[in-house]
Amino acid sequence: MRRLLGIGGIAIAVVVVAAAPTAAHGSANVAALQVALRAHGLYGGAVDGIRGPATRRAVRRFQARRGLSVDGVAGPRTRRALGRRGRPRLGSRPLAFGARGWDVAALQFMLETHGFPLGRVDGGFGARTVTSLRRFQAWAGLAADGVAGRATRAALRRRRPRSPLRFALPLGAPVGGYFGPRGDGFHPGLDLVAPFGAGVHAARSGCVVAAGWDPGGYGNLVVLRHSLGMTSWYAHLSRIAVRRGTCVGFGALLGTVGATGRASGPHLHFELRLRGAAVNPLPAL
Ligand SMILES: [Zn+2]
Repeated sequence: MRRLLGIGGIAIAVVVVAAAPTAAHGSANVAALQVALRAHGLYGGAVDGIRGPATRRAVRRFQARRGLSVDGVAGPRTRRALGRRGRPRLGSRPLAFGARGWDVAALQFMLETHGFPLGRVDGGFGARTVTSLRRFQAWAGLAADGVAGRATRAALRRRRPRSPLRFALPLGAPVGGYFGPRGDGFHPGLDLVAPFGAGVHAARSGCVVAAGWDPGGYGNLVVLRHSLGMTSWYAHLSRIAVRRGTCVGFGALLGTVGATGRASGPHLHFELRLRGAAVNPLPAL
């Protein structure tokens, strides 16, 4: 059970977290394999780095198609048969704008799972990968040169960031989407499904650093700054009830649920960031 948000002593939150997905951590190499299989039209699942039945089935189908021994394991021969998507291995060269291949997909997956989503994990080092990589490098205290060499890879092998603070749920509603890989991209927050107009409350006391329209897809957005480098993000709001520059207490009304920005229906996208890196909200609740 998660900590529930109470206003005036009345618990307004109901249940959540029915079947939270296990915190299985995907492998960057398996993610690169999934990207290659996707490009060959053999895998339609999420690029999650987890070697599940769908991934193994796709490998077997590929092996059968190419006349390789069908064992479902992507060994050197299978990797070679995947062509330029099956190589080179991560760490064999520094990666920069314009690079393509297995290692680029692996790098993109690691950037996403470290809290710097870039849209699509597709094995092509484009402008969005540059942005994501530079942000990660700055975050990790490295020179933000947009080239992934040894130091960047070492930083990406470190533990994924977690929230040092605890938060409550901003509203009581079922979870419609978890933090983690989604399709060939990454969902950096928690989606809480609630009707239009439901109140959205501060998950912790903080100061409003943004309250307005976000052109990047979040629609009407409120961002609160907390201590220890943490911010909490409340997106797709129908109405905003706070002003930038003010500070609010835990449970204060920030706005109401909507579907502004990139949203297919009314829900709250709740995101937590540590110095700019998106972290999984679930362990912080
Ligand atoms: Zn969302």
